[in-house]
Amino acid sequence: MSEQTIPSEGTSGDYAGRYDRALLPVFGTPQRVLARGEGVHVWDTEGTRYLDLLAGIAVNALGHAHPALLSAITKQAETLGHVSNFFASAPQIELAEKLLELAQAPQGSGVFFANSGSEANEAAFKIARRTGRPRILALTSSFHGRTMGALALTSKEAYRAPFEPLPGGVEFLDAGDEQALAAALAPGDVAAVFAEPIQGEAGVRPLSAEYLRALRRLTREHGTLLILDEVQTGVGRTGHWFAHQAIEDLQPDVMTLAKGLGGGFPIGAVISFGPQVHELLQPGQHGTTFGGNPLASAAGLAVLGTILEDDLLGHVRSVGAQLTREILALEHPLIEGVRGAGLLLGIALRAPIAKQLAAAALAAGFIVNAPDESTLRLAPPLIITDQQLATFTAALPGLLDAVSASDAATAASIPKGEH
Ligand SMILES: *Cc1c(COP(=O)(O)O)cnc(C)c1O
Repeated sequence: MSEQTIPSEGTSGDYAGRYDRALLPVFGTPQRVLARGEGVHVWDTEGTRYLDLLAGIAVNALGHAHPALLSAITKQAETLGHVSNFFASAPQIELAEKLLELAQAPQGSGVFFANSGSEANEAAFKIARRTGRPRILALTSSFHGRTMGALALTSKEAYRAPFEPLPGGVEFLDAGDEQALAAALAPGDVAAVFAEPIQGEAGVRPLSAEYLRALRRLTREHGTLLILDEVQTGVGRTGHWFAHQAIEDLQPDVMTLAKGLGGGFPIGAVISFGPQVHELLQPGQHGTTFGGNPLASAAGLAVLGTILEDDLLGHVRSVGAQLTREILALEHPLIEGVRGAGLLLGIALRAPIAKQLAAAALAAGFIVNAPDESTLRLAPPLIITDQQLATFTAALPGLLDAVSASDAATAASIPKGEH
């Protein structure tokens, strides 16, 4: 058979067209079709290799095809893959115990397993409702997910508007405004405040330690739950098990997790701290078919175990700090600064060129993303080395220059009056 008539297997063929014909258009057409991954690299169907500096959006904590994760999932699948929640399994119980230990949760705390970040936040939302108080506070620029309850907590109008009415009772406060927080909590009718320690989707924007402390103090004063969404920041991403642990005595009442927890295997979790929160969801008031099944739990245990054994928390702090120093040392006129912690970093740009920059980086073999117009987000696998990160830092000035030059050219080529 001639090679011209049949696209050889493993090439992109007409994947873009087939994608458009077979999938709902919610994501737009992806720029590449990926075929495999190993360590911190992925390859597309054309055989091009990329340094994965996004890790499936802070998911592939151990990179791709990590032997510990592979063997845990394989062994568990060979043994017992799924049982309903009519039954327990050892991996589920062990993972819950491990999470409670790492979160330094007091006696009487508990875990509910879900399958995603949105689902974890849905469960937290239901916990908040069960306090019997009518109001819930979330912050401007928040992102808590796309399901209806999680969306009700998400501030971005473009995400919300097409789906109204959303579950009610949610109000948004300016992130960082302590006075507004105090005023909103004062009537004593607020069930919970939802907050991300670092607002990842908003462009890697950390809440200040001062504001986080105020959140804890004021919610405690008014009997309001502090619910920290650590879906993106948790599980070692910031160089701590959970981002809030960077600040002393900042234990939340509820914490939600997902993304990195399964290292790529879907799993989410809600941790309730202490006996009072524990009692809010009574038997029969919440549930899931898949949540916490043996396979997902085994994946979670492998991720946590590897982070522990390989001291990845220390590693993340060290390579994250080194990367930040190197990016700042470029002293590039288009780089304003670096936000974030550990290996959740946002390179703040002085021009709205982040989307073009991410595209140029991809063409140069680096996967990054642009959560907003002027931020480039890096969230690589936690196992990445200084040397691997340095290849990106070395390429960055050239990418910035190329993008700003073509941007200027485009701007110049647009006739005045047609903007
Ligand atoms: C990604 C994310 C979510 C949503 O998680 P999904 O698994 O996509 O449902 C919620 N909160 C935060 C902070 C996130 O980064």
